[in-house]
Amino acid sequence: MKTDQSKELFRRAVERIPGGVNSPVRAFRSVGGSPRFIARAAGSKLWDVDGNEYIDYIGSWGPMILGHADPRVTEAVQRAAERGTSFGAVTEREVEMAELICSMVPSVEMVRMVNSGTEATMSAIRLARAYTGREKIIKFEGCYHGHADPFLIKAGSGAMTHGTPDSPGVPASVVSATLSARFNDINSVESLMNNHKVAAVIVEPVVGNMGCVPPGDRFLPALRALCTKHQTVLILDEVMTGFRLAPGGAQELYDIRADLTTLGKVIGGGLPVGAYGGKKEIMEMISPQGPVYQAGTLSGNPLAIAAGLETLRILNGDRSIYADLEKKAAFLESGIRRNISMTGVACAYQRVGSMGTLFFSERPVSDYDTAGACDTVRFGRYFVSMLGHGIYGPPSQFEAAFLSAAHSEEDLSATIAANRTVLESLSVD
Ligand SMILES: *Cc1c(COP(=O)(O)O)cnc(C)c1O
Repeated sequence: MKTDQSKELFRRAVERIPGGVNSPVRAFRSVGGSPRFIARAAGSKLWDVDGNEYIDYIGSWGPMILGHADPRVTEAVQRAAERGTSFGAVTEREVEMAELICSMVPSVEMVRMVNSGTEATMSAIRLARAYTGREKIIKFEGCYHGHADPFLIKAGSGAMTHGTPDSPGVPASVVSATLSARFNDINSVESLMNNHKVAAVIVEPVVGNMGCVPPGDRFLPALRALCTKHQTVLILDEVMTGFRLAPGGAQELYDIRADLTTLGKVIGGGLPVGAYGGKKEIMEMISPQGPVYQAGTLSGNPLAIAAGLETLRILNGDRSIYADLEKKAAFLESGIRRNISMTGVACAYQRVGSMGTLFFSERPVSDYDTAGACDTVRFGRYFVSMLGHGIYGPPSQFEAAFLSAAHSEEDLSATIAANRTVLESLSVD
């Protein structure tokens, strides 16, 4: 595998871009090796600047549920671009987008479009604080809600990957308003709620940002009940799970209703989009209807909305996509599980729908502490070897891998074969 051009580009990148990247996990720091510069993508494949081909399991970290460069989405973007990329004025498609989101996610009665998941969560927290007149929020250790100040406490994703779950630069006064609970431990939430007036609980209903960690049986319903009892706003952060696990996201899959929902990733079809929405009574507090300020120069711009709307329409129009994703993901899972038992490497494979993680851990991973106990050195060796076999998974133990509608049976079989070879090599050293 040639990597000359990628190496040369990275050498230039680190001179002018912090760490050589515009988002930390891309730097491959925790797994070793130097990042591949990607030249193009189509369907399930990526090609780097050195001409190597990869089967992609990152999918831009979630958005590319239809696969890369889906012609229907590409065409929608091209058509929109020809008519002007941004007006800073209202457009018809924004109304269609809002109507479609509300029809797909029943707990969302009104929605506001923003430009990223980070914007969605920070705005939802402001809104929840205004609505309840309370300041404290509860988040879960290992969950990631974007990079806004209130969430950078035992944060998952890149923060966990690089050993900086608590970031310098976040004021102590901001941190003191964020309370941390343990995922899958309802008692840890209950005791916080008994002792504090809490504006909002924010949670990834299925965690993707400490690797894939599903909620335990009663966890989400118990969380819903606690929030109702304490008149606390339940924010389901579905930036990753929204439109991925089901048309209505994790809340459809687990039959639970959020007060506010944050969305991103799939909703933009590969362009920068986020959204937050929920109960009308709460959403009506947003400016200019209400006093809670939130705005955006490029929010709802025609280019991004064209990509997102086309993606959601496809997903809404052909719901067999989800059954198909489940079938493929189950096939991949069974192959990997077979390899694990055959090679005896200490691994736990965890999956919900089309998101999953191979943890280098003897025990199942259910929270921040069990995730933190994984053998990340071994994961790094696994990642680098898989990359050498042309399989591009997430370069971090604490990120989920994603399947798309474009992955073929051949892709999956090749992945299972590579996984077996790599696990075999790990089992002997
Ligand atoms: C990715 C992610 C975010 C942040 O979204 P950005 O678009 O990267 O700002 C927030 N919450 C969850 C659950 C995510 O997976």
